[in-house]
Amino acid sequence: MTRFIFITGGVVSSLGKGLASAALGALLQARGYKVRLRKLDPYINVDPGTMSPYQHGEVYVTDDGAESDLDLGHYERFTGVPARKSDNVTTGRIYQTVIAKERRGDYLGGTVQVIPHITDAIKDFVRSDTDDNDFMLIEVGGTVGDIEGLPFFEAIRQLGLEVGRENALFIHLTLVPYIAASGELKTKPTQHSVKELRSIGIQPDIVLCRCDRPIPESDRRKIALFCNVREDAVIPALDVQTIYEAPLSYHVQGFDNQVLRAFGLRDAPEPDLSRWRDVASRIIVPEGEVKIAIVGKYTGLKDAYKSLIEALTHGGIANRVKVQMEWFESEIFEKEDAAVAHLEGVHAILVPGGFGERGTEGKIKAATFARERGVPYFGICFGMQMAVIEAARNLAGIAGASSSEFGACANPVVGLMTEWMRGNELEQRGVNTDLGGTMRLGSYPAQLVAGSKAAEIYGTTKIDERHRHRYEVNTDYREVLEKAGLRFSGMSPDGLLPEIVEYPNHPWFVGVQFHPELKSKPFEPHPLFASFVQAAVAQSRLV
Ligand code: GLN
Repeated sequence: MTRFIFITGGVVSSLGKGLASAALGALLQARGYKVRLRKLDPYINVDPGTMSPYQHGEVYVTDDGAESDLDLGHYERFTGVPARKSDNVTTGRIYQTVIAKERRGDYLGGTVQVIPHITDAIKDFVRSDTDDNDFMLIEVGGTVGDIEGLPFFEAIRQLGLEVGRENALFIHLTLVPYIAASGELKTKPTQHSVKELRSIGIQPDIVLCRCDRPIPESDRRKIALFCNVREDAVIPALDVQTIYEAPLSYHVQGFDNQVLRAFGLRDAPEPDLSRWRDVASRIIVPEGEVKIAIVGKYTGLKDAYKSLIEALTHGGIANRVKVQMEWFESEIFEKEDAAVAHLEGVHAILVPGGFGERGTEGKIKAATFARERGVPYFGICFGMQMAVIEAARNLAGIAGASSSEFGACANPVVGLMTEWMRGNELEQRGVNTDLGGTMRLGSYPAQLVAGSKAAEIYGTTKIDERHRHRYEVNTDYREVLEKAGLRFSGMSPDGLLPEIVEYPNHPWFVGVQFHPELKSKPFEPHPLFASFVQAAVAQSRLV
């Protein structure tokens, strides 16, 4: 029978609940258990797809095409288990399901209420698709006490009862702040947070205490006493040098031992953490450093580029170097010669995904700089589209080249795609369809040209990668662009949608229509990122 572990948070948000969950998943996996992680998000958007990256950070896309919470990225990077649509739900989605049933008349005249209808829908979600996993780790977004979180807390309380206490575990993550003026750690916020949780009927089994320094025995004892948990079950969650050290640190603090003990699993083998040790040491003691410029639009909030940052770090792991990321708002390059001033001296340039016209001329300038100077360039999704517009304007002489995303233009080298095949099914979109959930989303196959740089990097000519975009490079311009030197080295299997472009005569210039960063793992760096960082290392020896 699948066991459920519920992870909640208190005191403040951003304590690293997603990471704690992912690290626990990794630890259980390292002991031979099969795990899957899930996130329940109390906000009302149906999914984060329509939210600004400034509000919500990155939208993580799954193979099966869900636009989901960025914590699913942590889960996947830490466990290697591909996330699915059924791993993330929001209040909005739950209500959408319940209201659709109500409209169909499924409630047979009954009054539809938060309890039991909404809570039942949440429970159904949590219990669906659990497969043959030993553990389902269920993270509840937000903090205890939030009004919108209440139905979720009530649902997991009921679930604890229904699956039996021997099959459910509640973990609560809180903050133990250090007050400099008095030189003390404070346990009161933790006490209050657990009190809040108990007032809605949930007694945590384990309290994780985020703290910037070791927590003395006496404070742990106090927390245990007032929160009604055993002292061993008060686990310090200390700051680490890299997130990939978290499983190691949690293991030292006894986290996985306490979890297994609570389930009565006393004879589980010790975890094999060698791969985590290797990854952490490659990050903490690198053998060199490369400087990579990231030219984007949401550079003020790093969460907007979560998977990208991790994938670059993984590229560094593969090459045993530290990747120093230099962030640039692309708009600054729109001034004459600004690109040269800022980009001279970087070892590689990456233009990530993005939406909307603002800052695009700056991204195009960055692509020109990389192409002309032979500096490694990696264009991801929007970054590929900008590189293609750059090639059209500056190599093929198509002055009016642009994307129809920015309005009607003379030469839509990048245009709105209204029809494409997904497997055997035709997907169709109109100009005025909803914005939510209507992009080309999720995993699609691509065919690479044998002998191309792309095929060499992947070591194969057949790949699958995840997409999230509405526009495509327009194949009407393929011939003229190829004549100008830009090679289309990856296409959709039907040959209609360009997936990868590259310059054969450049040290490393690759644009991809998909998001390879979503599939990179610390112990399995994505080949494109490993190769890109390797090219940056080569460039660093030249400058
Ligand atoms: N805005 C572009 C599109 O919709 C690129 C999207 C992206 O970079 N994810 O096609």
